[in-house]
Amino acid sequence: MNAEIISVGTELLLGHTINTDAAFVARELSAIGVNLLFACTVGDNPGRLRGALEEALGRSDVVITTGGLGPTDDDLTKETIADVAGAPLVVHEPSLRRLEAYFKGRTFGENQRKQVLLPEGSTVFPNDIGTAPGCGVRTAAGKIVVMLPGPPSELVPMLQNYVVPFLKEGSHAVIRSSMIRTFGLGEGAGALKIADFTDCPNPTAATYAKENEMFVRVTARADTEEAAEALCRPVIEEILRRYGDVVYGVDVENLESVVVALLAERGMRLATAESCTGGLVAKRITDVSGASQVFGTGLVTYANEAKMRLLGVPAAMLEEHGAVSESVARAMAEGVREVSGADIGIGITGVAGPTGGTPEKPVGLIYIGLSSAKGTWVRKMTPPGRVHGREWLRGRAASTALDMVRRHLCGLPLEPTKEEMTGAPATTL
Ligand code: ATP
Ligand code: MG
Repeated sequence: MNAEIISVGTELLLGHTINTDAAFVARELSAIGVNLLFACTVGDNPGRLRGALEEALGRSDVVITTGGLGPTDDDLTKETIADVAGAPLVVHEPSLRRLEAYFKGRTFGENQRKQVLLPEGSTVFPNDIGTAPGCGVRTAAGKIVVMLPGPPSELVPMLQNYVVPFLKEGSHAVIRSSMIRTFGLGEGAGALKIADFTDCPNPTAATYAKENEMFVRVTARADTEEAAEALCRPVIEEILRRYGDVVYGVDVENLESVVVALLAERGMRLATAESCTGGLVAKRITDVSGASQVFGTGLVTYANEAKMRLLGVPAAMLEEHGAVSESVARAMAEGVREVSGADIGIGITGVAGPTGGTPEKPVGLIYIGLSSAKGTWVRKMTPPGRVHGREWLRGRAASTALDMVRRHLCGLPLEPTKEEMTGAPATTL
């Protein structure tokens, strides 16, 4: 099934609103195996919308529009589509009753009533958040046009709850999709290792790089759930085998949720002492619901004075090695473990830049300490080859710290090998 997206809205063309709807629709479609061929944006102009729609219907099975379903005069999507599809607009009674319930006896004007006029014979998608329902209409040529409201808070649940099942039903195929998530693997290396799968049409394997992570989505299409699952399974297993322990999970939310689950499973608690990451690790851990079971203390010790007073880092150590040093990261990890009584302590200190770097301690030099009953280790992160901003460096440091905790809890080496990270054999000096 081939599809395309038409985003309607002059504010999108002018750059006042970022087109997050198109990105969301695209992700949801690919997850159910619908091929997205084109995406375009048109202003609130019926003539140009008609042109875009006719072009799209000439080459795709499904056209999804976003925006312009509301009560105002510039909301013209539905009128234009109904006209192109040759379906007159009629009052959809259940939606009218919903609208009346929404206004709770207050009067509302014709402009509001316009929202419940839908193309005759269309499949209606209820709007559980707002007032304008969405709908799917079939053209004489058997093509489908799906209309969705613009506000993301309305579009997201409507797409997930009503449109995805609707499209799945129409496609007469079952789609099964899994996401393999890795940290510590370069994108080029990751893609190279599975090149034989990324060329395959069913199941497909596609790599994505986001921030510091790399993902592979494996998607299979078949007649039944079991058959799709059977197509995916061996490919996923082989990718896991080739990638090794840089994979932190399959179909999991993110790295922090994996870390929280591992800590909970083992009945262990984590504490953090952060300098250059400013509490980012603590923030990501506490983003996970249920984190209180495994996390109680997260200190931001930015100044030397705080490192001494709260963590017991010796003044002489700071004087001799400087705050950004292996020994201070070690002392921070051990200090926070001790003051909190947690099983694992993390200490992070580094130069996040863009100012403050020196030839000996350049921007991007970050030390991460991990202390547990088994000992204390420090991982040194050197500046990446390319120039990255403060936010990127801090994000990478936080992810590295979380990955170290995962590796420690799983009994893995705290750092992936060079070969795992780059695909190249480790060089010996
Ligand atoms: P409403 O009932 O709110 O008028 P609508 O379906 O008519 O909804 P629009 O009028 O086109 O939608 O857009 C309403 C608001 O939704 C916009 O001001 C914008 O904030 C948001 N919006 C619209 N389209 C998009 C998009 N493609 N991506 C993200 N946000 C969008
Ligand atoms: Mg509107």
